[in-house]
Amino acid sequence: MPVELSLIATTLDYEDDGKHFGHLLVPNSNNLSAWGTLMVPVACVKNGEGPTMLLIGGNHGDEYEGQISVLKLLQRLDPAEFRGRLIAIPALNLPAARADTRISPIDNGNMNRSFPGHPRGTITQRIAHYVWAELMPRADVVVDLHSGGHSLNFVPSAVMHELDDAGMMERTAAAVKAFGAPISLMLRELDPIGMLDTAAEDMGKLFISTELGGAAMVTPETISVTDRGLDNLLKHFEMLPGRPALPNTPTRMMNTPEGAFTMSRGNGLYEPVVDLGGEVKAGDLLGRVHFLEEPERAPVPYRATVSGVLYCRRVQGWTAPGDTLAVISADL
Ligand code: CA
Repeated sequence: MPVELSLIATTLDYEDDGKHFGHLLVPNSNNLSAWGTLMVPVACVKNGEGPTMLLIGGNHGDEYEGQISVLKLLQRLDPAEFRGRLIAIPALNLPAARADTRISPIDNGNMNRSFPGHPRGTITQRIAHYVWAELMPRADVVVDLHSGGHSLNFVPSAVMHELDDAGMMERTAAAVKAFGAPISLMLRELDPIGMLDTAAEDMGKLFISTELGGAAMVTPETISVTDRGLDNLLKHFEMLPGRPALPNTPTRMMNTPEGAFTMSRGNGLYEPVVDLGGEVKAGDLLGRVHFLEEPERAPVPYRATVSGVLYCRRVQGWTAPGDTLAVISADL
């Protein structure tokens, strides 16, 4: 099947040497701007021969470590000290980032469920399609920086998936380890359909994601993990000189075993009793859901079904059936 051409234009030439800033020009006809254009910033740093890394932040709008660290990286990169090519988009779902939301306020598009996108679809689908059709094919390595957004908070981690290709899996694990986050996670996705991750892996690209914190905020710790991780990845792929700077506490190689995810079964107020990063054993209490309008009713306990570390926790107090309350990671 021939690939339909993207209708998104760009002001950048990805073959130019040096450091250049430009935009993806996405047609956006709306009430305030009849012949308007959504301008999504993109940057390219290129010098000599070497791998191409596609670096994405703000795939989800309310996840800020990636957005900030990509901006900082673009400020500090000196093309003369750099080798290869970096194509970076600080906020892929820019309307969502501006609105402090996970999905786009323009079309309700969840960018990370929109891949491989569509050149004639909604704005979110068109941006996804541009990345899939125009940027991913140029890349050797694809890095998509996520955090927990408004509803989840994570122990900072670099993330990969189980892959069919053993060689690719080994190379990916080496890069994830080089990132040097507190946790290096082999994640089992709940919903891989439409993810940038899946599109990049299906294209045979070395793909790395992250979960760097969350609660729609950043902390000095999560930003420093991200800044160091990006430098480490560029060093790992020999795009910057030097060796990856590993943290004082070595990264912990973990996965999400069967039973790692705990979901809410009812409406109520969630009271977590374990701190993020806390060690838990199977059977330990993770938290309780209380019933504000039924004070006579006893709270419902939620217990760990596997042993490990509390890797991820729900942020908001209010919870509804199907919300992820907790994810436990276990040592590999
Ligand atoms: Ca995310």
